[in-house]
Amino acid sequence: MSDANAVPQFANRTAVLATMHGKEQVIAPLLAELGITVILPAQLNLAFNTDQFGTFSREVKRAGSQREAAQTKAKQAMQLTGLDLAIASEGAFGPHPALPYLPCNRELLLLLDGKAELEIWGEALSTATNFAQAEVHSLAEALQFAQKIGFPQHCLMLRSKDQLLKGITSEAELTSAVERGLTASAAVTLETDMRAHYNPQRMQVIQQATENLVQKLRQPCPNCGWPGFDIAERQPGLPCAWCHQPTELTLANIYGCQHCGHRQVETVASQADPAHCAYCNP
Ligand SMILES: [Zn+2]
Ligand SMILES: [Zn+2]
Repeated sequence: MSDANAVPQFANRTAVLATMHGKEQVIAPLLAELGITVILPAQLNLAFNTDQFGTFSREVKRAGSQREAAQTKAKQAMQLTGLDLAIASEGAFGPHPALPYLPCNRELLLLLDGKAELEIWGEALSTATNFAQAEVHSLAEALQFAQKIGFPQHCLMLRSKDQLLKGITSEAELTSAVERGLTASAAVTLETDMRAHYNPQRMQVIQQATENLVQKLRQPCPNCGWPGFDIAERQPGLPCAWCHQPTELTLANIYGCQHCGHRQVETVASQADPAHCAYCNP
């Protein structure tokens, strides 16, 4: 298939997507525009259990950082399939870095190109998440929490003294699980099930991360034309508008090419708001 929008380095290539949670529904159509066909290990009759790299429900703790987890998944999917292009995504939930009282969802999406030795990242940060948990003491409390998080479009998990029930998708299922849990103890914990296919809000953030990745893949290096010309480093030291001392704010973004090593400095702003200055606004 020849497509005017395809990026030459990726045209007619097949990428393995290291997922078992339906992420292909948002990732595959966007990468198809670049000329990449996305396949799952299961389509090649290969078993790839991404839960071995960590689960949101914490039965398996994630080894390393969010980035490292995505790198490990992509590399293993490449090894397993023998393909030279792999995509892996990794999500995290926690307080917003700038507004700690707001829960947020950060999604990373990695494209690993073994042929060109490229590692390109898409990223999205969103406060549009229903990530939450609550201890409930009655069925009424459970149903109230369920309504608040957008159940049953978004699914739930129930944690009780002796079990963890994931992927609760109907009110009947929820009711019986809560009633069973509350006969054994005074309270059970309900949590949003954050696996992508059970959480449409998270799926949307994964789509945003994919759009960000596609945008980066379309940024060619001005020197060699290779895709993925992107910010490699941020240089702090933006001078304060009042005292002209350097602040922690970004003075310049340094773009870099992973293929030829070309670098380009782009100044972001000329002066920092004194509110960010260690001398003027301690
Ligand atoms: Zn100052
Ligand atoms: Zn280059």
